[in-house]
Amino acid sequence: MGINRRDFLKGAAGSGLLLAADASPALAFGPRTPKELPPDAVGILFDSTLCIGCNACVFRCKQANPHMALRPEFNVPIGGLKIHDTPIGLSENTLTVIKLYKHDGGHSFIKHQCMHCIDPACVSACPVTAFTKDPKTGIVKFCKRVCIGCRYCQLACPFVAIGFKWDEPFPEMVRCQLCDHLIPLGKYAACCSYCPTGAALYGRVADLRKEASRRLDLEYGEPYRFPVNHIESGRKSFRPAAKYYPNIYGDTEGGGLQVMVLAGVSPLRLGLPDLPDVSNAAVSEGVFKTIYKWFAAPIVLLGALVYLAYRNTEEYRKPKDEDD
Ligand code: SF4
Ligand code: SF4
Ligand code: SF4
Repeated sequence: MGINRRDFLKGAAGSGLLLAADASPALAFGPRTPKELPPDAVGILFDSTLCIGCNACVFRCKQANPHMALRPEFNVPIGGLKIHDTPIGLSENTLTVIKLYKHDGGHSFIKHQCMHCIDPACVSACPVTAFTKDPKTGIVKFCKRVCIGCRYCQLACPFVAIGFKWDEPFPEMVRCQLCDHLIPLGKYAACCSYCPTGAALYGRVADLRKEASRRLDLEYGEPYRFPVNHIESGRKSFRPAAKYYPNIYGDTEGGGLQVMVLAGVSPLRLGLPDLPDVSNAAVSEGVFKTIYKWFAAPIVLLGALVYLAYRNTEEYRKPKDEDD
């Protein structure tokens, strides 16, 4: 028994759809399992209510990272002269920046930097694993020897925290590495160790979360002592509790962040993005994993192409089909 072309095309399209349908239980799109915080992960708690906008952190950050060749940025002339480092945002020369936001007759400072996401989009997006997450400290690291300069990481980062050194003979991505080069020297993040008020506090994320919760539980105006620089350093300061917005930004946002923020207003009003609790990395990896499971995507594509080819050539085939 012969088979004409119409039957062949119908069969091919049908079998593609059947195979795809067979794989349908595997086509339940959903995020993959979220990444977990390592128990000894380190990070920063930035308390906006303590920040006085002195910019010591910005200056010390550049000083502490000579290997990144972070140059001053003369954006705002002071006294008519461009002689002071005045970055206005994160860039290839600025790993952290302090910004002032005005609101309801008041104002708040916010510190922008890489937030060392627990489930980082930059790590997920990089096709050559130039970005990796340290299994012990959770610090997101970058290896310039591996990077091919595709800049997918820049597009993926929800905090726009990655700069690109265009003007170097060998361009590279640049961002805060939580001063991981200082850890073997017994030191820690320069922005925290030089912060005079305790607004930028370094330590284990688990301890920082507890400290942040403690502050949120305080009554407004209640006197309390709080750690400065490093949560384990023993240095303390004292003040009446501020009025806090009841959220630790980074506790759950974006799948959790190792750099967290407390503020007197919603951190979203201070330029931080409104992120769901599931990380972008978990969602995109979940979708891709589902699509390619059982080779479902090529099967669906083949079925769709066969159907389109059949539909678009129906008129052309008519006379021949009538002869069959
Ligand atoms: S803030 Fe951006 S650069 Fe930093 S870990 Fe998250 S995705 Fe990566
Ligand atoms: S942790 Fe280090 S690299 Fe990151 S913002 Fe602070 S000083 Fe700069
Ligand atoms: S050093 Fe501390 S107080 Fe000064 S701008 Fe930075 S975070 Fe704020």
